[in-house]
Amino acid sequence: MSERTFSFEFFPPKTAEGAEKLRATRAQLAQLKPKFFSVTFGAGGSTRDRTLETVREIQASGSEAAPHLSCIGSTEDNIREILNEYKSQGIRHLVALRGDLPSGTMDAGEFNYANELVSFIRKETGDWFEIEVAAYPEIHPQARSWTDDLANFKRKVDAGADSAITQYFFNADAYFRFVDEARSLGVDIPIVPGIMPIGNYVQLARFSDACGAEIPRWLRKKLETYGDDLPSIRAFGLDVITDQCERLLAGGAPGLHFYTMNQAGPSTTLWQRLGL
Ligand SMILES: Cc1cc2nc3c(=O)[nH]c(=O)nc-3n(C[C@H](O)[C@H](O)[C@H](O)COP(=O)(O)OP(=O)(O)OC[C@H]3O[C@@H](n4cnc5c(N)ncnc54)[C@H](O)[C@@H]3O)c2cc1C
Repeated sequence: MSERTFSFEFFPPKTAEGAEKLRATRAQLAQLKPKFFSVTFGAGGSTRDRTLETVREIQASGSEAAPHLSCIGSTEDNIREILNEYKSQGIRHLVALRGDLPSGTMDAGEFNYANELVSFIRKETGDWFEIEVAAYPEIHPQARSWTDDLANFKRKVDAGADSAITQYFFNADAYFRFVDEARSLGVDIPIVPGIMPIGNYVQLARFSDACGAEIPRWLRKKLETYGDDLPSIRAFGLDVITDQCERLLAGGAPGLHFYTMNQAGPSTTLWQRLGL
């Protein structure tokens, strides 16, 4: 079995205070020696400079950085410029996405889907970048069907993706089924589960509805019993997510990608509990 891959995701901070906090988070998480830190990118390029700045700091600290790059709302020239900038900074790893345009924005730009971005990156930069793409074990919310979404996932892989990171989920069976079906279509790249620690329940429920990640009824009901008792929600959430990660790794998951929300605590605790 090839070596497992562990990674942490950040969003680019908006304020000097946020940037300072992220430095501390990164320093703490770097001690765990993840393969890389990824940094999100607002669709339409809204965080372009902040993503670049965050990524530069990560590289300068000696860790590997993988900026996300979303293409919706962009032109080929925009994307080419960003790729050249990353290349000149010595960045060799990207997470290539379509992104979601804010509602009311009409101009989709020159890219419609992530597979077009992956093809463009390969055409422009050959094998310079290791490319990750997104996968949706519970199916992307806009997909016409399960079959269609899997075929679209395969299209990104055929375009040249090296590995995939999934949307978070709370149902390990969905992940295993997705991987099995992708394999049956001939997809052989690693599909790394995205892990979301459970913190603020109201926020999590809102976000999950929007991105199509199902919170199972038993879990919702159990979380509701804690009301706004955050420490109890977190403690219970850590138990649930530790179990899930154990099951995923035991079932052959090729690593874990933690959505940190720029906090070191929950991911570090999970890491320790999993004995990584
Ligand atoms: C790991 C991860 C990281 C993310 N990071 C960011 C980020 O930094 N910034 C951000 O804005 N968003 C981010 N997102 C969210 C992501 O941008 C959204 O989920 C978006 O709606 C889809 O992006 P995608 O790359 O999966 O799109 P695609 O793979 O293009 O798929 C989008 C939809 O179109 C369908 N589709 C795909 N290709 C075709 C085709 N050729 N013809 C017809 N239909 C097609 C798919 O089935 C799917 O329903 C992230 C998601 C994940 C899982």
